[in-house]
Amino acid sequence: MTESRSTLPSPFLKRPAPRLLAGQRVLVTGASSGIGKAVAMAMASAGADVCVNYPVEAELDRAMEEVEEIRAHGGNAWAHQCDVSREAEVVAMFDRIRKEMGSVDILVANAGIQRDAPFESMTLDQWNHVLAVNLTGQFLCARESVREFRRRGMTEASRALGKIICMSSVHEVIPWAGHVNYAASKGGVMLMMKSLAQEVAPLRIRVNSIAPGAIRTPINREAWDTPEAYQSLMRLIPAKRIGETEDVARTAVWLASDEADYITGTTIFVDGGMTLYPGFEAGG
Ligand code: NAD
Repeated sequence: MTESRSTLPSPFLKRPAPRLLAGQRVLVTGASSGIGKAVAMAMASAGADVCVNYPVEAELDRAMEEVEEIRAHGGNAWAHQCDVSREAEVVAMFDRIRKEMGSVDILVANAGIQRDAPFESMTLDQWNHVLAVNLTGQFLCARESVREFRRRGMTEASRALGKIICMSSVHEVIPWAGHVNYAASKGGVMLMMKSLAQEVAPLRIRVNSIAPGAIRTPINREAWDTPEAYQSLMRLIPAKRIGETEDVARTAVWLASDEADYITGTTIFVDGGMTLYPGFEAGG
């Protein structure tokens, strides 16, 4: 994963949006760049208070810029440093959420990393790190969310006791040579999400995933930032354009809202058709 800042604008705060999430509070993990940043902006624009999670001190400035941008547009946001793979830090983040916002209504478990290597040379550290952030991190944040939803009880703001959105990937179903750790983590997210959704549906907690295809963010810069790379990427995308973070963010707002109240245990693919076996476009 490169550390460079996403070059994309944050259009959500600049245009009026339906306030589908008015009165609700959201935690977005890994929110200081890429998809997480766009989701945080979109949720704020839809009326939610936002906790912008970032993992390390070096990302504080980026997180604070985002918080200031939301506040400048009349929203309510604050930043919290936490490595989602560390249980004590996640528990402490939820303590702070209770102090700052009273509770949380929506979790977007977005934080994720890649540590790519051919299988034979993949180190245990590369394997463990990706699983720790992408899968265990989502488990820890989802568990604390369910505990908090139950402690808080129903409110007027939503028909659900709480909503969890897991940021998965098309690689929850598409195998990915050279990225075995990443694909395993997202495959794990898929069945964690579905099993959890089944378990907590009677409590009126909805759990779903969004599976992005190729979205223009720092995590996959080498796949889109030269014309040659972009052309090659287009062979995998029937819609013939790369996804933008706003494509994912709009989906997240809708999925978190009562508009999607009967949807749980589902993965929504935001991928321009990448999961449609694009190799068969010309008839196979
Ligand atoms: P990104 O690199 O811009 O964002 C990842 C974020 O996670 C960063 O803000 C980073 O600081 C944060 N993070 C990393 N480790 C963390 C930790 N231990 N604790 C808390 N935060 C941590 O990349 P992105 O593309 O915006 O990725 C966001 C999510 O979307 C990831 O889960 C990724 O797997 C998923 N995704 C992205 C794409 C894509 O094409 N960009 C496709 C499919 C899935």
